[in-house]
Amino acid sequence: QLILGIETSCDETAAAVIKNGTEILSNVVASQIESHKRFGGVVPEIASRHHVEQITIVLEEALLRAGVSYEDLDAIAVTEGPGLVGALLIGVNAAKAVAFAHGIPIVGIHHIAGHIYANRLIQEIEYPALSLVVSGGHTELVLLEEPGSFKVIGETRDDAAGEAYDKVARTLGLPYPGGPHIDRLAQMGSPSLKLPRAWLEGSYDFSFSGLKSAVINTLHNAEQRGEKIEPEDLAASFQASVIEVLVVKAVKAAKEYKVKQVLLAGGVAANKGLREALTDAFLELPIDLSIPPLYLCTDNAAMIGAAGSVMFEKGKRSGMDLNGNPGLDIEV
Ligand code: ATP
Ligand code: MG
Ligand code: FE
Repeated sequence: QLILGIETSCDETAAAVIKNGTEILSNVVASQIESHKRFGGVVPEIASRHHVEQITIVLEEALLRAGVSYEDLDAIAVTEGPGLVGALLIGVNAAKAVAFAHGIPIVGIHHIAGHIYANRLIQEIEYPALSLVVSGGHTELVLLEEPGSFKVIGETRDDAAGEAYDKVARTLGLPYPGGPHIDRLAQMGSPSLKLPRAWLEGSYDFSFSGLKSAVINTLHNAEQRGEKIEPEDLAASFQASVIEVLVVKAVKAAKEYKVKQVLLAGGVAANKGLREALTDAFLELPIDLSIPPLYLCTDNAAMIGAAGSVMFEKGKRSGMDLNGNPGLDIEV
């Protein structure tokens, strides 16, 4: 079974060919980060334009590197949402054009289902599984009772983890995207500053806006008192707060739902501190922890192909009326 995955939900134009749902034959990612950096974030119109320029090149490169042609494909899996509508449409329309021209079925994929199934590219998933999704736009605990079924048991009530990282990085004057910079600084500092943890008692939900405000206030107050705060220590303290809440809630949910596996997913899964803390926490538990390699954590199309394979086997097909859906729900 050969699936072509296409991803254009944000600022990466990506295409990949996946064999039997688990083997990466090619994985091409054209990143636009350099174009958005000077604006401190992703500019939707610029993203769409880059996707238009890149999509044909990226698709052809993915097929070339995989050594396959369109006729060999069993299905095309494309991110239909959530994301920037103008960006999603480029991928969806490219998928429809290729599918129509070559008579190949299309499977619309939820971007977060893609992040979760990146884990299937490194090992077989055992159900029930719990995914800790930490990305630029999402922070969620998702229960997978069987292949391709998703139940959100907790989610952020305000900022996503990645968003909080990027905002804290901006207040420290670090370039976009700030997550990796905070991660790097945190390794050099000590978590000596007192910052809050939002436990939201009895719930698997998350909240990071209070923490973000506390970081800004800490910096501001120190400035007014003429004191200097080491950015390394601030980064370490912020990261400690984020990681503690994520790890404690993931462990609690994994036990309560008696899952066999915990799947780390999303761009923030690239975080060194989080990877280490989760590994430690699950070491003595009879629950398997899956952590994808860095290149499968941030946006890519291999993960869309992997999720596509699962949904294709479940019988999911999308019609020629497939549209980009910025508010797509993972549970339906
Ligand atoms: P979503 O997947 O929710 O639609 P997105 O696709 O924009 O959002 P991803 O590409 O999954 O998000 O992840 C990008 C985010 O990951 C950014 O916020 C970035 O700062 C963060 N990130 C990347 N590497 C690290 C790291 N090492 N530590 C912390 N955050 C990181
Ligand atoms: Mg991105
Ligand atoms: Fe993403």
